[in-house]
Amino acid sequence: MKRTITHLADGRELIYFDLRDDADHSAVDTRDLPPRPYASELRYDPLMDEWVAVARHRQTRTHLPSADECPLCPAHPGSEIPSPYDVAVFENRFPSFSFNVGEYEQVGGLSEVRPGIGRCEVVCFTSDHDASFSSLSDEQVELVMEAWADRTAELSALPGVEQVFCFENRGEEIGITLPHPHGQIYAYPYVTPRTRQMLDAAARHRGGNLFADVLAAERRGPRVVGSNEHWTAFVPAAARYPFEVHVYPHRRVPDIPALSSEERASFGPLYTDVLRRLDGLFGVSMPYIAAWHQAPVTYRRDLAHLHLQLFSIRRAPNKLKYLAGSESAMGAFVNDVLPEEAARMLRESR
Ligand SMILES: [Zn+2]
Repeated sequence: MKRTITHLADGRELIYFDLRDDADHSAVDTRDLPPRPYASELRYDPLMDEWVAVARHRQTRTHLPSADECPLCPAHPGSEIPSPYDVAVFENRFPSFSFNVGEYEQVGGLSEVRPGIGRCEVVCFTSDHDASFSSLSDEQVELVMEAWADRTAELSALPGVEQVFCFENRGEEIGITLPHPHGQIYAYPYVTPRTRQMLDAAARHRGGNLFADVLAAERRGPRVVGSNEHWTAFVPAAARYPFEVHVYPHRRVPDIPALSSEERASFGPLYTDVLRRLDGLFGVSMPYIAAWHQAPVTYRRDLAHLHLQLFSIRRAPNKLKYLAGSESAMGAFVNDVLPEEAARMLRESR
């Protein structure tokens, strides 16, 4: 594996991860790019005890370009990536969080305003525009994991960063703006609400570690979708989405950098199998969100257990689940598919 750090025309960092040691990344980004936008502002919601990032520049993002205009396909005039690559990571041109801090005024009320420092990166899983994560080779998935591990370690060390989140949004139904296979990484300047809630539950839990106890119970139960020596994929008992799968390493580690090389190598074969089963359910490409839950940099880090949460909003061949009144306004989920039935359908898929 070879790592090469370069910079784009506007100063953003671009990092190549290559399988071959002789990869050549001497090509230079010669575009005339506008100055980088300022970091969004963070506004505190005192009722929810949560931060909201307000990013006004993101309305002008590139929307669903064709392959010859795709900014993630390498080595053409409009590309973000000047030379061919195996995996490439670069700073998002339209970031929600960045260290490029502008002026921020207080807005009154009980809402404190502070700059949204942090970093947002784009991870290109392959240079093949028409591929998908499920079609990556095991070797390519391992390289993506190397990139996630590298970025998690590096971003966690930045001043003010409290949590690093690697994720993939896939499908127009989820709202992706670029069809090229890619994911994103957010380095947040706070602990996200869901992570805080899970870790607080783990702190209240009696017995062993909460996540490890859940995993041990699920491994014996009816909702397992697949497993191998190091990982198990299961539909959680209280799944919120019609098709939701959690993938856990058997050994409790805080984050991707803490995985052994054997654990990293055995993730791809199981995960891509689960993704293909998801696509096989209705014979149509499934929109999904794949979210790595990693330990925050400091908050209750010792209680965390790395896992991947994969879920789709498609509940039938031509029906999507929308987060409507109960879910959006109350945070109270209603799921139309029995989790045991979803697990059975996924096991029998393909
Ligand atoms: Zn592309």
